[in-house]
This record gives sequence, structure tokens and C-alpha cells, in this order.
Amino acid sequence: MRLIMMGPPGAGKGTQADIVCASMSIPHISTGDIFRANVTQGTALGVEAKRYMDAGEYVPDGVTNAMVRDRLDEADCAAGFLLDGYPRTIEQVGVLDAMLSAQGVGIDVVVELTVDIDVVVKRLVKRAHDQGRADDTEEVIRRRLEVFAEQTAPLTSLYASRGLLAQVSGMGEIPAVTARIEAAISASA
Ligand code: AMP
Repeated sequence: MRLIMMGPPGAGKGTQADIVCASMSIPHISTGDIFRANVTQGTALGVEAKRYMDAGEYVPDGVTNAMVRDRLDEADCAAGFLLDGYPRTIEQVGVLDAMLSAQGVGIDVVVELTVDIDVVVKRLVKRAHDQGRADDTEEVIRRRLEVFAEQTAPLTSLYASRGLLAQVSGMGEIPAVTARIEAAISASA
């Protein structure tokens, strides 16, 4: 299975992706996590990415696409994967399409977690306290939501037009959301 998990910042993508990947035994590829690991390790990629992340902006497509290409070339992705937080722009969709079609494969389903925006802001503020993320100050949160609405929300209609979109409510307790996601994945299989 090749899955994409979409939804605004704070929708619970990372938490749900971890659970789904563990039960399906596929790698969880979070571009945000890869960027954060690079920031922590102080790599050149991390230094570049941090400037954008701290401002709530997207890391440039060229940088992000090259990183995903390297990750998808690793052996553990051959049988499937879940992309969390990628693609986020129309250009990234085109690059991902080309990467997959070169391998003769494609995305099976795009799960979009839909949430109430007030809930998202509360979750992000709480996470800022818990994890000390520099991109979770209130001003940056607002910018991240704006960038999502401008650049990433349009991707859902694109995937819907391909018949790949499964919209799932991300509201409620974690296990209830997981059950909805698993039902949506089974229905699309
Ligand atoms: P996330 O943890 O997925 O919310 O990602 C945290 C930050 O990493 C984002 O606000 C962006 O600055 C950057 N980032 C993650 N994924 C992407 C992507 N696909 N394209 C551009 N920037 C990204």
C-alpha cells in the first residue's frame, strides 16, 4: 500500500500515521520529522530548512523533493509507505507522480484528516509547550495555517479528481480516528 496522509498542521497526522504504519508494517515517511532530525544534527540541509520552518514557510520544493526522492529509493519503501506531510504543493505532486511512475507504481489512497480550525490551534499551542517546537508560536501557527490553505488545501481536489481522496474526520479520541482511517483504507483497497 502506498498512502498519503493530508490535513492541516495539528490535525493529528503524525500520531495517526505512526499507528497505521505499525499495523500495516510500512515505513512512516514524515518530511517534517526528517527536516527536524537534520536540524538537530546540524546538517547543511537542517540549517537551510530551519530558516523556513521557524517562519512557518515551506522549505523550497527543490530541497524537499530531492530529500523525498532519496528516502523513497531506500529498500524498505519497495513494498509500500505512508507519506505524512508530503506532497504539500502542486509542484511536489508532479515530482512524486514522476518518481512513482518511473517505478511503475502509484498512490493507492490519500487520507485527508479534516478538523475544526479552533481545535487545531489549541492542539498546536499545547504541543509548543510540550515539545518546545520553535515553529509553534502563535504567530507562526497562524502563518502555517495560511500557507496550508493557500498551497496545500487545493491538492485535495486534485486527488479527489483522480478518485483517490478519502476524507476522514480527525475530531474525537485517537482510537476513534484510527478506526475511521482504517475503514477508509480498507474501502479503497
Ligand atoms: P510538519 O511537521 O509536517 O508540520 O512540518 C514542519 C515544517 O517542515 C513545515 O512547516 C515546513 O516548514 C517543513 N515541511 C515539512 N514538509 C514539507 C513539504 N512537503 N514541503 C515543504 N516544507 C515542508
